[in-house]
Amino acid sequence: MTILVTGGAGFIGSHLVEYLLVETGESVLVLDDFSTGREGSLPDSNRLELVDGDVCDQESIEDLVERSKSVYHLAAAVGVEKVVDEPLDSLRTNVEGTRYVLDAAAADGTPVFVASSSEVYGKSTAIPFGEDDDRVIGPTSVPRWGYANAKALDEFYALAHHDENDLPVVIGRFFNTVGPRQIGEYGMVIPTFVEQALDDDPITVYGDGTQTRTFMHVHETVEAVHELMNEPEANGRVFNIGSSDSVSINDLAQRVKNLTESESTIEHVPFEEAFDEDFEEPDHRQPDITRLRDTLGWTPDSDLDRILEDVIAERRDDVEVSS
Ligand code: NAD
Repeated sequence: MTILVTGGAGFIGSHLVEYLLVETGESVLVLDDFSTGREGSLPDSNRLELVDGDVCDQESIEDLVERSKSVYHLAAAVGVEKVVDEPLDSLRTNVEGTRYVLDAAAADGTPVFVASSSEVYGKSTAIPFGEDDDRVIGPTSVPRWGYANAKALDEFYALAHHDENDLPVVIGRFFNTVGPRQIGEYGMVIPTFVEQALDDDPITVYGDGTQTRTFMHVHETVEAVHELMNEPEANGRVFNIGSSDSVSINDLAQRVKNLTESESTIEHVPFEEAFDEDFEEPDHRQPDITRLRDTLGWTPDSDLDRILEDVIAERRDDVEVSS
C-alpha cells in the first residue's frame, strides 16, 4: 500500500511528497497532469512513483485510490488569473476531479485529505474567519466565485461522504501558503514581487495596496496537513490552515524591495486594468486558527521575513544556475 498525492508535482504537493517520504518511510504515488506542476520539483526516490494523468479520468483514479492506504487530494486548477482565464477547465477539475477521488475513496473507506481554500469565505468582512462562519459569495457572472463555490462544493461532498459512508476526511482551507517552488505565473503575489524586484522591474501592486493578507510557510503547511490526517479528533472536520499575522500588500512590496536591495519602483495598477471590469477582490483575509491550535497544539511561526528570504534565496540560485 502506498500514499496517493494528487497534484503532487505542484507547489504544496511537492513539499508534501518530500515530507511524507522522509517522515513516514512509506512509498508515495503522485498523480499530476503537469498543468502547473513540474516534475523537477519532485525528489529522487525509489519509493516515489509518478503517474502523468488527469484527476478527471475516473477509471484511473479508482485504480490509484485502490492501491493506496490514504489520499491527499491537492490537484486543482489554482490561481486567480488561471481561474478567471479558463473557467470551464477550472470548474471541471475542481468539481469533477474531487468527486471522483472521494467516490473512489468511499468504496474502500480510504482516508482523504481535501485541499480547500480561504476563497470559500468570499468577500466576508467578519475578520478573522472561523470555519463555521457564514460565507459571502459574489454573483455567478464573476468567474472568480466559481473557484470559491467549487471548493465549497468539494467540502460539502467530502462531509456528505463522511456522514453517509463514514469516510474518514479532513478538510484544510489553505490561506496564502508560500515558499520555494511557487510560481508567479498564475498571479501568486510573493513570487511575482520577488521576480520583479530581482529584475529591478516595477513591483506591481493591484489596487491601492491597503488590502491585507496572511502568509504561511509551506514547510509548516505540510506538517499541519500530515498531523491533521493522523489526528483522530480532526476526522470529519474543516480546518483553517494559515498564519494569523496580517500584512498589507503595500508593506509586502516594500519588504520585498528592502530584502532584495532592489532599485524597483512600487507601482499601483487598478484591478480593472489587470483583470476584467467586474473583477472583485476582498479587502482583508485572516483565519481564526483556534481550531488548528487546539487540535495540533501548535500554531504557525510564520515569520514573514524568513519566508521572503527563502523565496528570494531560491530565485537568486535559479538565476545563477541559468546564467
Ligand atoms: P499548484 O498549481 O502548484 O498545484 C496544483 C497541482 O495540481 C499542479 O501540480 C497541477 O499540475 C495539478 N493539476 C491541476 N489540474 C490537474 C488535473 N486535472 N489532473 C491532475 N493534476 C492536476 O498549486 P498549489 O498552490 O500547490 O495548490 C495545491 C492545493 O492547495 C490546490 O487544491 C489549491 O486549490 C489549494 N490552495 C492553495 C493555496 C496556496 O496558497 N498555495 C491557497 C488555497 C488553496
